[in-house]
Amino acid sequence: MDNKVCMIYTGGTIGMVPTEDGYAPKPGYFGDLLNEIPQLRYPDMPQWDLVEFDPLLDSSDMSVEHWNKIGRAIAERYDDYGGFVVLHGTDTMAYSASALSFMLEGLDKPVIFTGSQIPMCRVGSDGLSNLVNALLLAADEVAREVGVFFNGELYRGNRSIKVSADTLDAFKSPNYRPLATVGINVRYHKKALSIPVQSDDFKLCEFGSVPIAVLRLFPGINFQRFESLVSGTMKAVIVEAFGSGNIPSGVAFDQFLRLAQESDTVIAVCSQCNQGTARLGAYASSSSLKNAGAISCLDMTTEAAVAKLYYLLSKGVDRQTLVRAMETNLRGEVSI
Ligand code: ASP
Repeated sequence: MDNKVCMIYTGGTIGMVPTEDGYAPKPGYFGDLLNEIPQLRYPDMPQWDLVEFDPLLDSSDMSVEHWNKIGRAIAERYDDYGGFVVLHGTDTMAYSASALSFMLEGLDKPVIFTGSQIPMCRVGSDGLSNLVNALLLAADEVAREVGVFFNGELYRGNRSIKVSADTLDAFKSPNYRPLATVGINVRYHKKALSIPVQSDDFKLCEFGSVPIAVLRLFPGINFQRFESLVSGTMKAVIVEAFGSGNIPSGVAFDQFLRLAQESDTVIAVCSQCNQGTARLGAYASSSSLKNAGAISCLDMTTEAAVAKLYYLLSKGVDRQTLVRAMETNLRGEVSI
């Protein structure tokens, strides 16, 4: 294989070891482990280098600054490699993959996130097979976008969600078909691979720490208790509404929306359902959102909506541009 791959190891279960407090990453350990696995240096494997993060993270500690760090690690090496594998904890992998899909503007190479549910130091680990296949996919020049590879399937990063804490089939992309299925051979689903054309130049757009929030509705929610979210502290609030974007009616929610409008806080609506579309105005119970200028995130995942808001707000776009961009398919994250 001609294409060399850079593996960026950020942490996660794949390279963790047992400690008194439970599994945790150990500096230097994973690189040594990989060097002992002959399969990773077989002639039909791509050549690879490993870049280890310092500190290594459980992905629940990932923040905007870490996303920027992954972005910089890729951008600094962009011309030296044919593709990238990002080894990452599974807990927030879908957020990071979504973030990188926006951050890496004009990306024209595979960036494949993977990890495992069982550490590689344990019997029955899914780590090696995920890692080997992610390397092969990153060296292929077919899926030139940010993907998540897990348990035999390559998903579009900004369509993926973690669906299982217990099984090896930890990820799915319920609103978009997988980009590829890996069995004895790799089968790319060519039609799924098209994403909107971007500029020819690769550019890293780092994110800022913009204040946003996610509010998951539940029956009986008292909106008054959440008014501080829309009183000017947050730039945007993603409301995870019921079904196709429905919300409880009543004075309290109207007041919530009024405050959001007064303080110029963007309200973006996702569905709590993993599969399907938040379409405001389909039911009377979502019309108040529509009338208040809330954005329908359609079939975007909450993870993708979070990442997209960070991206657009970090760029400092005006409200009109932001609303238009949220309702536009920028990286294959939404079906328009
Ligand atoms: N807590 C781990 C992490 O996200 C879980 C995993 O990697 O599977 O880093």
